[in-house]
Amino acid sequence: MSSNPGGAPVALRPTDSSALLIDGKLLPGSGGVYEVLNPATEEVLGHAADATPADMDAAIAAARRAFDETTWSRDPAFRARCLRQLHQALLGHLEELREITIAEVGAPRFLTSGPQLETPIAYFEYFAELAESYAWRQDLGVAAPMGMKTQRYVLKEAVGVVGAITPWNFPHQINFAKIAPALAAGNTLVLKPAPDTPWCAALVGKIIAEETDIPAGVINIVTSSNHTLGAQLSTDSRVDLVSFTGSTTTGKAVMVAAAETLKKVFLELGGKSAFIVLDDADLAGSCGIAAFTVCTHAGQGCAITTRLLVPRARYEEAVKATADTLASLAAGDPNDPGTICGPLISARQRARVEEYLRLAEEEGGTIVVGGGRPKNQERGFFLEPTLISGLDNDSRVAQEEIFGPVLVILPHDGDEDAIRIANDSPYGLSGSVCGTDPARIQRVIEGVRTGTLSVNGGIWYSEDAPFGGYKQSGIGREMGIAGFEEYLETKLVAEPAS
Ligand code: NAD
Repeated sequence: MSSNPGGAPVALRPTDSSALLIDGKLLPGSGGVYEVLNPATEEVLGHAADATPADMDAAIAAARRAFDETTWSRDPAFRARCLRQLHQALLGHLEELREITIAEVGAPRFLTSGPQLETPIAYFEYFAELAESYAWRQDLGVAAPMGMKTQRYVLKEAVGVVGAITPWNFPHQINFAKIAPALAAGNTLVLKPAPDTPWCAALVGKIIAEETDIPAGVINIVTSSNHTLGAQLSTDSRVDLVSFTGSTTTGKAVMVAAAETLKKVFLELGGKSAFIVLDDADLAGSCGIAAFTVCTHAGQGCAITTRLLVPRARYEEAVKATADTLASLAAGDPNDPGTICGPLISARQRARVEEYLRLAEEEGGTIVVGGGRPKNQERGFFLEPTLISGLDNDSRVAQEEIFGPVLVILPHDGDEDAIRIANDSPYGLSGSVCGTDPARIQRVIEGVRTGTLSVNGGIWYSEDAPFGGYKQSGIGREMGIAGFEEYLETKLVAEPAS
């Protein structure tokens, strides 16, 4: 049982939600089961189906058959109906999904009202509507190439079989941002979720199998403790597109592996985004936003701004304002509706973050606040929100993605210097700027090489907003019309015109 503030306790159903979904059937994993941990308590919650390469092979075969042998890819009205059905079915399981998400991901309860659950469920309605309204046939008019009067038009068609590989940090958001547009566009799909968060995906698989008319094989969900099952999706010639979200290192491996069969790759990767405070901004208010942001889901978000760039003349003042806010946002129980900063996903991830804190001190930095495990949390993979000062942008903690509640504060010498530092990174996923002069803000918007940018606390996240990275943060865009079109091919047809 799990607590459900304001309502009756909601049972977690581990055994019910631990099957694979292959060719429309809920199946046990050929590799047996593996343990699912609660990162806030370190308790074993239950078990998940452990797929083997043979299971993955069966899932790919089912997706291929469903694409090649059914009318799914040619019937957008039916697809829209199925996606709406799934949307309603997910809403019918909202509280069960919420409790699993809190328990398995360590996601703070307040985030499940937004990006950890409720917002991504709405993607299905958005993409159902797009399946109905999209211009599947686009007229190019009549021309006379080589003297022959010809009517030309473009048909937009599904790419084929999509292999979707996802991480653990926002499982529903990332799974649904792939499933909804890929299916709406007429593809079939195999989802390989992260080993740490199998239940979020498996429960969705069970709902699809039992409560929707989505045909067998159109969507297959393969949970496994084995990371390398994902690699099978990159190399198998029956897969036409790999849609990957995860670290830049793994993204590069996916791209290399996919080259052999020259499949399309769509990559959403890591980030080390800059939060720029201009010298005409409200310094304390801006630093407060930056501190709050890095605590959200314990900093385990690719687009979270983790480098805070402040005017050099007010560096000490900014350090104090940021540290004060971080100290007020203690890491705590994700079940508590007031918690912003929950646990890290695993002991391994916490050890990785702690290694970066050791490195920061070795590089000459100061841990101004945080840096340790909270005294009042005896169990769980918690870490205190942490501020590192006294380093420059060349340091490893300013260059590498840490993926924890850790903010590095850096001085800048004016707007152009801030833009230079923001861009001095292998990544280009996200960013923020705070200031008051519109012309100066415009210069920052144009100067920073990044896929999303927030101005004075603006929120860019929604289903119609294309999201993705410049540089080593990825290739392609997720969500919105741009995200939908990643899952489409273009066929040009030419007929003699009268
Ligand atoms: P990861 O790269 O370790 O794993 C991601 C997924 O890839 C998992 O399902 C994993 O099992 C699988 N995988 C591992 N090796 C593979 C291989 N060789 N071939 C195919 N698949 C393989 O990432 P993670 O630690 O799970 O997630 C954190 C990372 O994800 C961070 O770098 C974060 O920035 C990034 N991320 C990016 C976005 C985005 O939209 N840009 C969103 C969320 C997370």
